[in-house]
Amino acid sequence: MSEQFLQTSIAYLKGVGPKRAETLEKQLNIKTYGDLIHHFPFRYEDRTKFYSIAEVHPNLPYVQLKGKITFMEEVGAARKKRLIARLKDESGQVDLVWFKGIKFIKSAIKIGEQYVVFAKPSSFNQKVNLVHPEMESLVEYKNAVQSSMQPVYPSTETLNKMGLGSKTIAKLNKRLFPQLEGKIDENIPSTILEEYNLIGREEALRNLHFPQSIEKLQAAQYRMKFEELFLIQLELIKLKLLKTQKSRGFVFDKIGAYFLDFYDNQLPFELTQAQKRVLKEIRKDLGSGNQMNRLLQGDVGSGKTIVALMSILMAMDNGYQSALMAPTEILATQHFDSVKEFLDQMNVKYALLTGSTKTAERRRIDEELQSGELQLLIGTHALLEDKVKFKNLGLAVIDEQHRFGVAQRAKLWRKNTQAPHVLIMTATPIPRTLAMTLYGDLEVSVIDELPPGRKEIKTVHWYESKRLRLFGFMDEEIKKGRQIYVVYPLIEESEKMDYANLEEGYQHLFKRFPPPKYKVSIVHGKMPADTKAFEMNRFVRGETDIMVSTTVIEVGVNVPNASVMIIESAERFGLSQLHQLRGRVGRGAEQSYCILMTGNKLSNDGKLRMKTMTATNDGFQIAEVDMKLRGPGDLQGTQQSGTPINLKLANLATDGDIIEVARDAAKSILKTDPNLDLPQNACLLNFFRNKKREKVNWSRIS
Ligand code: ADP
Ligand code: MG
Repeated sequence: MSEQFLQTSIAYLKGVGPKRAETLEKQLNIKTYGDLIHHFPFRYEDRTKFYSIAEVHPNLPYVQLKGKITFMEEVGAARKKRLIARLKDESGQVDLVWFKGIKFIKSAIKIGEQYVVFAKPSSFNQKVNLVHPEMESLVEYKNAVQSSMQPVYPSTETLNKMGLGSKTIAKLNKRLFPQLEGKIDENIPSTILEEYNLIGREEALRNLHFPQSIEKLQAAQYRMKFEELFLIQLELIKLKLLKTQKSRGFVFDKIGAYFLDFYDNQLPFELTQAQKRVLKEIRKDLGSGNQMNRLLQGDVGSGKTIVALMSILMAMDNGYQSALMAPTEILATQHFDSVKEFLDQMNVKYALLTGSTKTAERRRIDEELQSGELQLLIGTHALLEDKVKFKNLGLAVIDEQHRFGVAQRAKLWRKNTQAPHVLIMTATPIPRTLAMTLYGDLEVSVIDELPPGRKEIKTVHWYESKRLRLFGFMDEEIKKGRQIYVVYPLIEESEKMDYANLEEGYQHLFKRFPPPKYKVSIVHGKMPADTKAFEMNRFVRGETDIMVSTTVIEVGVNVPNASVMIIESAERFGLSQLHQLRGRVGRGAEQSYCILMTGNKLSNDGKLRMKTMTATNDGFQIAEVDMKLRGPGDLQGTQQSGTPINLKLANLATDGDIIEVARDAAKSILKTDPNLDLPQNACLLNFFRNKKREKVNWSRIS
């Protein structure tokens, strides 16, 4: 009943009508009464306070003035036409300027009358003026109830032209709200409202538009943020429950000869506590009878590969095949090589499959894969092709997850009659709060400890003026037998310029470090794949001293002897990318360095990024700063998370504490009432039923 009222077309609201309704829908996607009340102000203005004209300064965000119009004139011709009116109070006078709607304004404003004017001050020819101010006669102003927190809604030029600016939206809401009394359904159970001290939905919505006080506004914002996050968490946790209930998993309950032989005789080092803990978590999943969907986060160099390998050995012990998939051929090859090293002394069958695997080899792989002889297949996307058929795939490990989309993962899942266990590894640390939302349907393991004996990478930020010193330092390191990366940015819009920079930098380096004494490799995205691989491999094998490249080396490549990472135009990289790049060094026993080269002009953002990089090596700390700087949407991995996140008020970067309580609340509800059968949870069930774009089918839950 009440839900139906909110579905009323916005055209029926007094003051709207069909034409404006069309504009509202096109511009703001507001079709119904319900949509209108969910179109929130983005800030509030104090309309009870006045500035004097003498105080007006272009740096002020907005000013409200009271005064008399003393003069009005149209100046300029044709396109440059504008209307100027002069506003005067006891302290001085200021010009009001219009470029559009001149005719209407001219007829509406009367010289000699008192007006209230609201606008953002700007300056023109060193004179302050007010462009396109909001105007109201003083009489009108006095007749209306004024609030110290007048809502301001996002608007567009079209809306303004159609007379649907922020003020009108506020008026429409004012008109609508009295009709809504008792018609806005609560969607959070009263038990939760009480426990978490939340105000009711109707009160919250009313106060978001027309705050009674600053405290009420805060309570309203908190309540609506909580609601957004709570509903998302509820869906995610439900999804996870469904997944574990529905998808039976292969049971790996044996720890057998492969694992034990490796652990006792082959493993060349002691596992870190973090690695041991994660292995335990994985082992528990694999033996549980449910399909594992686990995300393994660990900073670069934290030792994820060995954890993956030991999970693969568990699969072998239980008679299952495994797949290990990496996003690039170079990475897949490196995995293959390190697996070869680790498993050298063991009788295990594994193979490498990439786009460049020769036909004969490929045929052999296909055969052995289908006969079950091959226990582990390492490779790139090539593994996903339909013709790659396993006899008994039990575990799929995906490295550097953010390069793979959800659809590609799903392909892997279909490679057996029953979905294999999935372990996703990522070196992009995702802040906890974000992981809880993005990957709410995955279990998350974290390796938060580096293997012992690692020397902290020394990071410095140098301006261009230190170029000579940089070359001198490079020379010293090369003399010590070290290898050096020099990375240039590559951003698509300015691709041409970037290649010019790369090319120029390369020539410059080449002159300073000439053959035959020095050997310099160059790799960039425009090279043919085989040339790229050839150059890359020369560096990997230690045949070149310097590797000049764009960010193609960003992910995963492991060259322990490379101990210096120089990042050119470092201000043009995001934090997580800088951190990823830095992770290419510090892999051997030598002291490693990361040198961030920038121009002299840095934005505040840029400065903070450099400062963060020089201050810490901790990927999680860096990710937190990154998320605050860029907002969660831009972080790597979020686009492919598969979870549609549509938040109007809550902010994943700054509302971490609300996410946590909302998640707790969602968990406690589902724990006692997984199907939302209890009467006190009926409001939730109704809400989900009404939600048309519903993802979770609540009625299907067994
Ligand atoms: P990443 O997590 O970035 O994939 P890797 O798995 O490539 O890290 O590990 C980085 C290096 O550290 C490898 O050479 C690996 O053999 C080594 N390593 C891993 N775990 C340990 C450990 N517990 N002790 C010593 N070295 C380790
Ligand atoms: Mg790795």
